[in-house]
Amino acid sequence: MSGTVEFERHDAQPVNSARLRRPLYAARRKIFPKRASGPFRTFKWLVMAVTLGIYYLTPWIRWDRGPHAPDQAVLVDIANRRFYFFFIEIWPQEFFLVAGLLVMAGLGLFLVTSTVGRAWCGYACPQTVWVDLFLVVERAIEGDRNARIRLDQGPWTARKLALRSAKHATWVAIAVATGGAWIFYFADAPTLLADFAAGKAAPVAYATVALLTATTYVFGGLMREQVCTYMCPWPRIQAAMLDEHSLTVTYNDWRGEPRSRHAKRAAAQGLETGDCVDCNACVVVCPMGIDIRDGQQLECITCALCIDACDGVMDRLGRERGLISYATLVDYNANMALATGNGAHPVRPSLVRDGAGRIADAVAHFRPKKLFRPRTFIYFGGWSLIGLLLVYGLLTRDRLEINVLRDRNPQYVVLSDGSIRNGYTVKLLNKIPEQRSVTVALAELPGATMSVVGLDHVEGDTVAVTLEPDRARSLKIYVRQARGHGDGQGRTQRLVFRVTDPASLDAAAYVTSFERPETNR
Ligand code: SF4
Ligand code: SF4
Repeated sequence: MSGTVEFERHDAQPVNSARLRRPLYAARRKIFPKRASGPFRTFKWLVMAVTLGIYYLTPWIRWDRGPHAPDQAVLVDIANRRFYFFFIEIWPQEFFLVAGLLVMAGLGLFLVTSTVGRAWCGYACPQTVWVDLFLVVERAIEGDRNARIRLDQGPWTARKLALRSAKHATWVAIAVATGGAWIFYFADAPTLLADFAAGKAAPVAYATVALLTATTYVFGGLMREQVCTYMCPWPRIQAAMLDEHSLTVTYNDWRGEPRSRHAKRAAAQGLETGDCVDCNACVVVCPMGIDIRDGQQLECITCALCIDACDGVMDRLGRERGLISYATLVDYNANMALATGNGAHPVRPSLVRDGAGRIADAVAHFRPKKLFRPRTFIYFGGWSLIGLLLVYGLLTRDRLEINVLRDRNPQYVVLSDGSIRNGYTVKLLNKIPEQRSVTVALAELPGATMSVVGLDHVEGDTVAVTLEPDRARSLKIYVRQARGHGDGQGRTQRLVFRVTDPASLDAAAYVTSFERPETNR
């Protein structure tokens, strides 16, 4: 039997066809940023000098705290569990101050991002600062953009080998200095430097320097913009913090388009052209290798170097600066509506200019008062509140503390004379850099006396103790309640340890419990 077999043909292409599949990873295309000049570049030089200066020099600043404390102004003293910051000394129990500072830093970042966009990325992020530093070295050795491109594309000659060797050697030296500076924050810098050079430092110091040298060299010299684009989570997070009133680096196509390299010829033909002369000056200075004229992009770190480059071009052409500028989306949209007749036609630059050819008054410009809006007030309010609480906590924190741990096993001991004894570990913290004598006293437990292991004293309800400067002292104390006291008041009774410095009147107390059998034997 014969017949026609019917089946359906589908008009489809495999989405992940092996034939069409593109490689998952694309090779990095090198970027050769040209040196920019202008106010934003100058500001970036300043930020770079200040941030690098702080990082490299801070461990070498001395701060006299007396004979009993280190004289390094900023020190994370892991061995003694202290953090020193000039006149502030933070004990582990006060780590809430550091946590508060971190929260403030986070809120500060939110505040900055919601007002001036990715200013952190463009100016102060360590990746940006070190890439800038590495670029300074690269330009000094290999020349500016065109010379570097020629060198890169040229064959390997003795000159190229020498230049590349010098560049990478300088980069490695900077990377070593960067890793080296980091470990100086964790020990006395001059001593550690001498030990390090003599090969006597702890292995962890060498390992840390090696790790930071490698990351600085690779991230700052080799990976550069890839770190920002592919590795850093901040570009993604910050999208949630930006709104239509946040400042971002913007190409103002409402006055730049239609762009033309031959404006005079176009004018002779009666064609309208915008201010952009398509010179690509903004493109060649961009360290991220993007064209801001394509609009907002995740890669843009808002370093504003394209603003400097374009302003230079506008100056030479005798036109107003600001073809690329910091602008809010609200202002941009308003100006775009003006230039396009609310979207009725493509950009007509004449609509944003007055009769004299100047930018019209109707054009919206950024005003600083636009920074003051509910979101920024909330961030600033939260930031200020935490700051005030931290200052209050710092000014009112205790300089004398007591912590008590009651023995759990045994809970109590009934002595031969019928009295009850509990054991305690009492930790006294003297947070000033001077020795002092304090008294430890028992309170609220009737008939209580104490004896301190290792102290030569008469058993009573008070004992005098000497505390070393800036140190904690641990005491083993046995508290005894005489027979007949506390009977019928329950198995657990309240006991307070009080420590007092009669000289400074510093005092602290710790409430604990005293355990005993239900009925005295
Ligand atoms: S587009 Fe401009 S602001 Fe953005 S990264 Fe490039 S140069 Fe910097
Ligand atoms: S620098 Fe200014 S004029 Fe030149 S291409 Fe960029 S936006 Fe256009």
